[in-house]
Amino acid sequence: MKPRANIVWFKRDLRTHDHAALLAASVGDVIPLYVVEPDYWQLPDTSARQWAFIRESVVELGERLVELGAPLNVRIGSVVDTLSELHQHFDLSLHSHEETGNDWTYQRDLAVKAWCEENAVPWQEQKQFGVFRPLRDRDGWSKRWDALMGQPQVPEPEGLTPAQGLKSEPLPTWRDLKMADDPCPGRQRGGRALGLATLDSFLNARGQDYRKSMSSPVTGFDECSRMSPYLAYGCVSMREAAQALWARQKELKQLAKQGEALGLWRGSMQSYNGRLHWHCHFTQKLESEPSMEFRNLHPGYDNLRPDPDRSNSAAEKMWAWSEGRMGLPFADACMRALNATGYLNFRMRAMLMSLSSYHLWLHWRAPGLLYARKFTDYEPGIHWPQVQMQSGTTGMNTVRIYNPVKQGYDQDPTGEFTRHWVPELADVPDKYLQEPWKWSQAATVIPRLYPEPIIDHQQAARDAKTAVYALRREPGFREISARIVEKHGSRKKTPRRRPRRKARAVEGVG
Ligand SMILES: Cc1cc2nc3c(=O)[nH]c(=O)nc-3n(C[C@H](O)[C@H](O)[C@H](O)COP(=O)(O)OP(=O)(O)OC[C@H]3O[C@@H](n4cnc5c(N)ncnc54)[C@H](O)[C@@H]3O)c2cc1C
Repeated sequence: MKPRANIVWFKRDLRTHDHAALLAASVGDVIPLYVVEPDYWQLPDTSARQWAFIRESVVELGERLVELGAPLNVRIGSVVDTLSELHQHFDLSLHSHEETGNDWTYQRDLAVKAWCEENAVPWQEQKQFGVFRPLRDRDGWSKRWDALMGQPQVPEPEGLTPAQGLKSEPLPTWRDLKMADDPCPGRQRGGRALGLATLDSFLNARGQDYRKSMSSPVTGFDECSRMSPYLAYGCVSMREAAQALWARQKELKQLAKQGEALGLWRGSMQSYNGRLHWHCHFTQKLESEPSMEFRNLHPGYDNLRPDPDRSNSAAEKMWAWSEGRMGLPFADACMRALNATGYLNFRMRAMLMSLSSYHLWLHWRAPGLLYARKFTDYEPGIHWPQVQMQSGTTGMNTVRIYNPVKQGYDQDPTGEFTRHWVPELADVPDKYLQEPWKWSQAATVIPRLYPEPIIDHQQAARDAKTAVYALRREPGFREISARIVEKHGSRKKTPRRRPRRKARAVEGVG
C-alpha cells in the first residue's frame, strides 16, 4: 500500500494565506509543489524579468512553508512527468487554484486533467479570481464578483504534516533555464511581504491622488497601486486586496462623518475599486474566448493588417517601437521606461499599443508578444484582451487613437519624464520637446543623436481611422459586434455624460 499524500500545486497563487487549495490539502500529509516548466520559459511571451519576480516570490513562499512544517518541493520539468513520478510513491490527490493563462498553460492543464482521470487521481480546483467557468454572458457578473470577494478569507493552516521521502531541486536561475538576458534594473521585487507593504502604503499613504495621477507616467510610478505583479502571481489574493480596500473606504466614510478633510481620498479609492473589478472583467474575456490570444475577436478585422507581416519595413518599425527609437520623444520615453523597469501605467501602455497598431500599422500579435515580455506583471487574461482593445479589433470598443505629441505635452508638461528617459533631447527647449524636428536648431540633435520620426503621426492616424471606419460600415459588421457585446460587454451602467463633439471622440485626430 502506498502512503496517501495531498499535493498542493502552486501556480499563480504564491502565498499560504487565503489559499483554499492549501487548506483543503492540509487535512492529510501534504506535498507543497512548485514545478518550474522549462518549456514554458521558452515561450515568446515569457521573460527573465517575470521569472526573477516569481523566483523571489517562490523563495519567500518556501520559507513560510518551512515554518508551517512542510517544505516546498521544487521540481524542474513537466507537470505530468512530476505527477507520474510522485504517483509511484504516493496515493495522490491534487489541489490547486483555477488558472486563466495563455494557450500553453491551458493545454498543460488539459494534459494534467487527462492524466488525473487516467490514474484515478482526484483534482480539486478552487477559485481565486472573479472569473467564472462556464459563462454564457455577463448578466449579474459584477454581483458575483462582489459576493466572491466578500467571502471570508481562508485562514492559513496552523501547521502542515509533510509527506516523507521527498527530494526537492534547487530553484534555477534564468541562465539555467536558457532564457535571454533581460536587464531590468528598476524591476519590482517579488514576495508576499513586499506585496502587503505595497498595498498598505497605497491605501494609507500613496493613494490619495490616484484618480488624478494615474494617467501620467510622471506620477503613475509612485501613485498607482503597483499591485499588478503581486496580484498576477498571487502573492496577495484579490480578496485580500478588495477587502483591505473596502475596510479603508469604511474608515474614510467614518472620518468624513466626523468632518475630516479627506482631499481626493474617497474618489481615488472608488476608482481603485473599479480597477480591481477590471482585472477579472478582462480575464473573464480570455477565459470565455481563449482564441483572443491569436485571432481578432471581431473577424471583420481579419484582413485589416497583414499577419504575419514579414516585410522589412514591419521589422524596422517594430524594432524602433520596442527600443524607444521612433523619433517621437514622449512615446520613446515611455517605452524606455518600460524596458528598464518592467512597468508602465495603464494609459501609457494603451498609448504604445495603439501607436503600434494604428500609426505603425502593425498587426497586434507580434508586438503583443514582445510587449508581454517587457511586463513583470504579465497576466495573459488582461494582456491579450487589452492588446486587442487598444488595436481596435474587438468590435465593441470605441476606436481610440492617441496623439503621442499631445499626450507628451498633457502628461509630461514640464518634460521631466521625457528628458529623463531621452537624455539626447536635454537641450531642446520645452516648447519643442515633443516635436524637436520643428526647432530651428533641430539639426544639432536630429539625426545625429536622435532619430527623425519614423512616421508622420498625424497623417498615419488619419489613414488608420479611414481604414478602420471603412470596415465598420461593411454589411454584417454591426450584427457580429452586437453578439460580442452580448457575450463580453460590461453590464455596469455608465453615468450619463454630455455628448462629446465628434472630432474629440478620436483623440488628437481630425
Ligand atoms: C496593452 C495592455 C496590456 C496590459 N497588460 C497587463 C498585464 O499583463 N498584467 C496586468 O496586470 N495588467 C495589464 N494591463 C492593465 C494595466 O495597465 C495594469 O494592470 C496597470 O497599469 C498595473 O499597474 P498598477 O498595479 O499600479 O495599477 P492600478 O492602476 O493601481 O490598478 C490596480 C489593479 O487593477 C488591475 N487593473 C488596473 N488597470 C487595469 C486594466 N486596464 N485592465 C485590467 N486590470 C487592470 C491590476 O490588477 C492592477 O494592479 C495592460 C494594459 C494594456 C493597455
